[in-house]
Amino acid sequence: MARDDKFDFMAVKIDYNKCCWKDGKCASCSCGGACVGCVEACPVKAITRKKLVEIDKSKCLGCGVCISACKHGALSF
Ligand code: SF4
Ligand code: SF4
Repeated sequence: MARDDKFDFMAVKIDYNKCCWKDGKCASCSCGGACVGCVEACPVKAITRKKLVEIDKSKCLGCGVCISACKHGALSF
């Protein structure tokens, strides 16, 4: 298996329709920007939240902690 294939298989993906963070702010719930569960949960800092939430697949360990932390169900394998 190629290295990139392995990352794609293990890495978490994000459904931007479910994630409340859009264009640098919370767009759909009353979190007031406090919804950083995914970012804070990741032990290797693979998730960043700027204009959108982004996942660095090359860092992701596939631990799944962020999936549990996201209250909007936006993250999955
Ligand atoms: S915890 Fe979920 S809804 Fe909140 S910013 Fe992260 S991915 Fe989006
Ligand atoms: S918490 Fe785990 S599964 Fe989620 S992005 Fe970080 S390393 Fe990957």
